[in-house]
Amino acid sequence: MRYSQLLLPTLKETPAEAEVVSHKLLLRAGFIRKITSGVYSYLPLGLATLRKVEKIVREEMNNGGAQEVLLPMVQPADLWQESGRWDKYGPELLRFKDRHGRESCLGPTHEEVITTLVRREVHSYRGLPLNLYQIQTKFRDEIRPRFGLMRGREFIMKDGYSFDATEEDAGKTYETMHYAYHRVFSRCGLKFRAVEADTGTIGGNFSHEFMVLADTGEDTLVICKKCTYAANMEKATAMAPVAPVEEVALLPLAKKETPGKRKVGAVTEFLGITAQELVKTMVYLVDGQPVAVLLRGDHEVQPVKLKNLLGAVEVEMADDKQVFDATGVPTGYLGPIGLKIRVVADREVALMKNFVVGANEKNFHSLNVNLGRDFEVEDVADLRMVTEDDRCPVCGAELNLTRGIEVGHIFKLGKTYSQALNGVFLDNQGQEQHYVMGCYGIGVSRTVAASIEQNHDKDGIIFPLPIAPFQVVVLNLSPNDEVITAAAEKLYLEFKQQGVDVLIDDRDERPGSKFKDADLIGIPYRLTVGKSFAKEGVVEIRKRVDGETSSLPLAEVVPDLTARIRTELAAVV
Ligand code: ATP
Ligand code: MG
Repeated sequence: MRYSQLLLPTLKETPAEAEVVSHKLLLRAGFIRKITSGVYSYLPLGLATLRKVEKIVREEMNNGGAQEVLLPMVQPADLWQESGRWDKYGPELLRFKDRHGRESCLGPTHEEVITTLVRREVHSYRGLPLNLYQIQTKFRDEIRPRFGLMRGREFIMKDGYSFDATEEDAGKTYETMHYAYHRVFSRCGLKFRAVEADTGTIGGNFSHEFMVLADTGEDTLVICKKCTYAANMEKATAMAPVAPVEEVALLPLAKKETPGKRKVGAVTEFLGITAQELVKTMVYLVDGQPVAVLLRGDHEVQPVKLKNLLGAVEVEMADDKQVFDATGVPTGYLGPIGLKIRVVADREVALMKNFVVGANEKNFHSLNVNLGRDFEVEDVADLRMVTEDDRCPVCGAELNLTRGIEVGHIFKLGKTYSQALNGVFLDNQGQEQHYVMGCYGIGVSRTVAASIEQNHDKDGIIFPLPIAPFQVVVLNLSPNDEVITAAAEKLYLEFKQQGVDVLIDDRDERPGSKFKDADLIGIPYRLTVGKSFAKEGVVEIRKRVDGETSSLPLAEVVPDLTARIRTELAAVV
């Protein structure tokens, strides 16, 4: 491709709307442009990168035995009513009516459509296993679309769905997909980690998220320093607490004035105790109803665990006014004794004795409080976030907390959708059975953004070779000089003949701009044909990732670099 003809509008300034580095660089490097909130156009380089990721995804899905299809984006409401998700999915589902008044939605995911397709076509165990995938535009009306391609409303996803005759076969398919995902992200040249993920109301231990490791990630990963345990914070548990060996005598309940002390830090300082001796009472709105959650003063609630415990659709923290409306107690003095709303406790609280809680009265706390004697709770469960002080639930070693970006999610669905949508087949005994399903997503456009979050410097993007829009950029520093131009053009043509993705910067621009733009758009190999070619007949080769520079005579450049690129691409596989 010739830079002079390419739509590649790079920007010197960072657009104010962008907060995270991938969004800033995708805009500055001329890869994407915003049309409206969470909706983007892909310019030629953005599309080229996207296509590279797609190609790797396709190859690995096909290798894993999956077949590509393309499903409709517009989905009729009745399928979603049949699965029960029309009411459950919430406002992320963009719904509309056609001219006949029929309700439809734009597909945020395709379980309903694929199950309908398969139930109509596959009636016998002979048609199974079946694993179908597509790479397609999804629409989710995200409450906070942000960070460019990281969380769009319209985005590109690879979604796959498997159908097996038995749980055992479905387990094998899941493992095959797990392996395929490993291959996809390794081949993309990314540092990533597969972690156990929350399975929501479906339950079971069969969900993994693939996380690109980056400090800017929205997710926190809990990784054991010793064994293979790795989980998303939503799912991660700590080693279970153990009751102290010695009996602790229960002290008489007391009330103490704590004037103006509302925060854990202030109360514990005032009373001369540690946060481990205090139980805080947090109020959440669980599907609109207030629920109090008790947990140790130094711990935090993990809302997804609360949501799963109560089988809720939506959980959010109540604000001060909502707490007061529900309990009549001002924030900071809430406690479980005599509380009229539902109360649940984190499992650590169940082992605590003689602790401090709010007294449900302004400026007062209760001392020597004990669960079972002074109040009861509806449920005790693991409801908190793991911290760096916790130990691995599997081996007891220390845990590491690190940030990641979710780029893939695989999930063992079981019979949830085949039962809801009546997806059945006859097994080899002639018995009617429901398919055992799995689903497998990759955020293709988010992977592009994540690769930049992980790989960039102050000058711009540093693309891993396998997903760079071009592998090589040839800078012609003197387009008006015949000798230099002839050499640059020769390189360009020869690379093309070798099947290398090459960009030639043939613009009538100052060398400084060419260097800057080459760095900004992140092309792995930069070749410079300029003064040293005119003088000594050599071309400078610079690696974007580490700035390593070498020079070669013109004739050696293409064979040498083509071989290097082939070796590098083979090595990541
Ligand atoms: P998240 O928790 O980030 O909202 P999700 O659990 O809703 O993700 P899935 O339904 O599992 O995501 O979708 C599969 C993949 O699609 C995700 O792993 C992610 O990479 C990508 N994805 C999901 N939502 C978006 C979005 N709004 N913009 C870009 N990519 C997305
Ligand atoms: Mg989501």
